[in-house]
Amino acid sequence: MKFDITIIGAGPSGLSLACSLAKTKLKIAIIEKNSKKKFSNPQKDGRDIALTHRSKNILKKIGIWKNINPKKISPVREARVLDGNSSKYLHFDHVKTVENSLGYLVPNYVIRKAIYDKLQTLKTIKIFANNEVLKIVSNKSSSKVYLKNRKIFESKLTVVADGRLSKIREKIGIYANKTNFRAAMSVFRMKHQFNNDNIASEYFHYNQTLAILPIEKNLSSIVVTLQNDLSKEFLNMTKKEINQKIENDLKGKLGKMNIIGKKYTYPMLTVYSNEFYRDRSVLIGDAAVGMHPVTAHGFNLNLRGVDILQNKIKKALMDSVDIGNADILKKYEKNFRKVSLPIYLATNAIVRLYTNQKPIIKLARKSLLILADAMKPAKNAIIDNLLLKNS
Ligand SMILES: Cc1cc2nc3c(=O)[nH]c(=O)nc-3n(C[C@H](O)[C@H](O)[C@H](O)COP(=O)(O)OP(=O)(O)OC[C@H]3O[C@@H](n4cnc5c(N)ncnc54)[C@H](O)[C@@H]3O)c2cc1C
Repeated sequence: MKFDITIIGAGPSGLSLACSLAKTKLKIAIIEKNSKKKFSNPQKDGRDIALTHRSKNILKKIGIWKNINPKKISPVREARVLDGNSSKYLHFDHVKTVENSLGYLVPNYVIRKAIYDKLQTLKTIKIFANNEVLKIVSNKSSSKVYLKNRKIFESKLTVVADGRLSKIREKIGIYANKTNFRAAMSVFRMKHQFNNDNIASEYFHYNQTLAILPIEKNLSSIVVTLQNDLSKEFLNMTKKEINQKIENDLKGKLGKMNIIGKKYTYPMLTVYSNEFYRDRSVLIGDAAVGMHPVTAHGFNLNLRGVDILQNKIKKALMDSVDIGNADILKKYEKNFRKVSLPIYLATNAIVRLYTNQKPIIKLARKSLLILADAMKPAKNAIIDNLLLKNS
């Protein structure tokens, strides 16, 4: 089968790229190993994705934001980063941004459904579900994707978007730098007695990171990261024990806590690919950069990558240049590396700093938060470059 672009993986990254190219009229095939049911009707997975204003703008530009039910969008007015139970915290508020929020929380299943609904309206894009890729072979003029069922997809460019444990990345010979933090992140929702005032808080305790993400006045998404052995203990706790534990960890700031619904748990493995393209194949999304969720950058960075790549592809079309040509892909790699590498390294460094139990490190992290809060340029740089400001 002949297409202009073949995308492997119908996750949020692969589907967003397809939506962003809709107006080009390029013929796009998306190959997904899961059944259609799984991605056409995404189920709750516990993740509430913190989206930046920049990401909102990208989603608006590609026609996805309008598909998100406004009732499912929770604005974040203020964010606080706290060291253990210290009363000092690093503080960000929306006054520094052009809108009246720092960013937005949207459940992952809602984002995925909004992307899928957009795709349904696009005639030039076809999804092939229940299909698994065996190998990719590129030559001077095209890239061929061979499936297990013997179908072959031939196109100018193959986009690899099969997630952080990408098998295709390995198949095309790209190595990735991987870090296993031997920790697990559990996410679930809790109702609470007191108003969260739309404030997101991240508490770096000595053996646990606890994030409170405001969904409604008296409802928050709770994110608990623990080393694997402690995580097992946590998962075995009863609802009553968890309610008490989180109430104690928060020193009663939100009053009585009550867990509702399921807990979802994710292993903390981060990945950074050594290269973002090989021949006519290009990596996007978690397959290129799989972030630690503690700084909530994963999907935000994926969207930056999608935006950079779609710009390069559109420019190639305008210049009547082959869209799978190495010069185009090299420019994408250069731009996306510049954006993603500092954030990836800084996030991993933060995780290491805040999981190290040595007394000197504990002291350093306390001072660091106080210093960072006092240093306006450092704070503004975080607001400008990482998370919050419109661009
Ligand atoms: C607990 C948690 C909280 C998070 N919070 C945030 C946040 O607040 N902000 C933020 O920006 N990001 C956050 N993230 C990150 C974000 O969820 C991910 O970055 C994003 O979902 C990755 O999307 P993706 O499409 O790149 O990969 P995936 O969602 O992994 O999709 C890959 C797709 O490829 C398919 N596939 C795999 N192998 C094959 C194959 N061989 N052939 C065909 N198809 C294949 C899979 O079935 C899947 O559909 C969080 C992540 C976690 C775990």
